[in-house]
Amino acid sequence: MPHLAISPQQQEQMKAATPLLWLNDRYQNSEAAPARPSTKLLYRASARLERCAPLLQQLFPELEPSQGLIESPLLSAAALNQQINPLGGQLLLKADHALPIAGSIKARGGIHEVLCFAEKLALEQGLLSSIEDDYAKLAGDEARELFGRYTLAVGSTGNLGLSIGVTGAALGFRTQVHMSADAKEWKKERLRRRGVDVVEHQADYGVAVAAGRRNAQADPHCYFVDDERSPELFFGYATAALRLQQQLQQQGIIVDADHPLFVYLPSGVGGAPGGITFGLKQLFGDHVHCFLAEPVQAPCTLLGLAGEPGSEPLPCYDFGLNVDTDADGLAVGTASAWVCEAIRDLCSGVYTATDRQLYQQLYQLKSLENIEVEPSAAIGCLGPAMLNSESGQQYLQQHQLCGRLDQSTHIAWLTGGSLVPAQEYQRYLAQAKSCLES
Ligand SMILES: *Cc1c(COP(=O)(O)O)cnc(C)c1O
Repeated sequence: MPHLAISPQQQEQMKAATPLLWLNDRYQNSEAAPARPSTKLLYRASARLERCAPLLQQLFPELEPSQGLIESPLLSAAALNQQINPLGGQLLLKADHALPIAGSIKARGGIHEVLCFAEKLALEQGLLSSIEDDYAKLAGDEARELFGRYTLAVGSTGNLGLSIGVTGAALGFRTQVHMSADAKEWKKERLRRRGVDVVEHQADYGVAVAAGRRNAQADPHCYFVDDERSPELFFGYATAALRLQQQLQQQGIIVDADHPLFVYLPSGVGGAPGGITFGLKQLFGDHVHCFLAEPVQAPCTLLGLAGEPGSEPLPCYDFGLNVDTDADGLAVGTASAWVCEAIRDLCSGVYTATDRQLYQQLYQLKSLENIEVEPSAAIGCLGPAMLNSESGQQYLQQHQLCGRLDQSTHIAWLTGGSLVPAQEYQRYLAQAKSCLES
């Protein structure tokens, strides 16, 4: 077995599917970390989303109020804070479960990547003369005719498929989504109704992605959105950091040495939480502490980050875990090697949680804040309690944070849920209640 920077005791906990908080030995503060040339890619992605805003507004009337920008509110949650945060400071919820169009965090990265491809085609074919041209043209007949000659394909546990499928179809692309066995039926149906070709695989997410990739390679008019190695997704996700910075400023919330910010991010293959971690570290440096969160049965980014730099992330299956979880958005067996490299020294740590804990948080979000999320999205709410554990206290001491917790801000990133059908949500809630009672 290759070397893993996980203590023998924590390896045992991981194999036993017991929740744990792993601290990243390779985490560096910014004085030690080299400046990143890729920061400009973050700003480039943000500029692209801005110039495409008039186009998105035309394609999706629901973006009218935000003038074509895809954004979610940052909500305060005092009642939930009392229940879930033993550390002190305030709790905020980043409401990406309510992101328009895709109803999940996948809207950020997925829509950005589709726009990258559409823009590239339009510039190459002379439909746009430059990036200063009028992007509303891309909603016209000529553009639809052009895009209709191409297929967009993607492998997904569900939400990325929704994001790519809906945006691609709105622009006139043919779209094909390879779904893993975990994908929920309603997500498949929603896509089929929009004319998306849904290919079902009786295997896990990695297999669905590989099948999509293979198909696409055989067809020069097929563009594959590769969730395991896509800078376009990553930097699309990363733009959330710029918007969060603005929202914090607007709410008068300070982030500095005396006012640390803790962010808890649900992680599947690693792209969405990785991109956001990258963005936040560029903006807030040592003052932000980013923790990823995974189901106990699928700690794939933990394994990826704990591996040797440059090595392939180990699959969870090698540790006797089966990736069986109700958190379908996080049901990934092997992390993205590319993302693990990109955030290896930026991420503070990773914690894991049982499905039962997710349901408890799902219930608290509903009963205390009237917020409805899917199980994956509830995992961020466990962050403050995990940081209060023994290894969490060790982190707080190491980084001289103990005396500053009263002025700290904690953000649980809610990553999906607003498109979940009411009936489906009632089932989650019933499951949650039975978890609380037993
Ligand atoms: C996809 C997803 C995530 C995690 O994103 P990755 O890029 O796979 O790490 C988290 N929550 C929800 C609801 C998701 O759909």
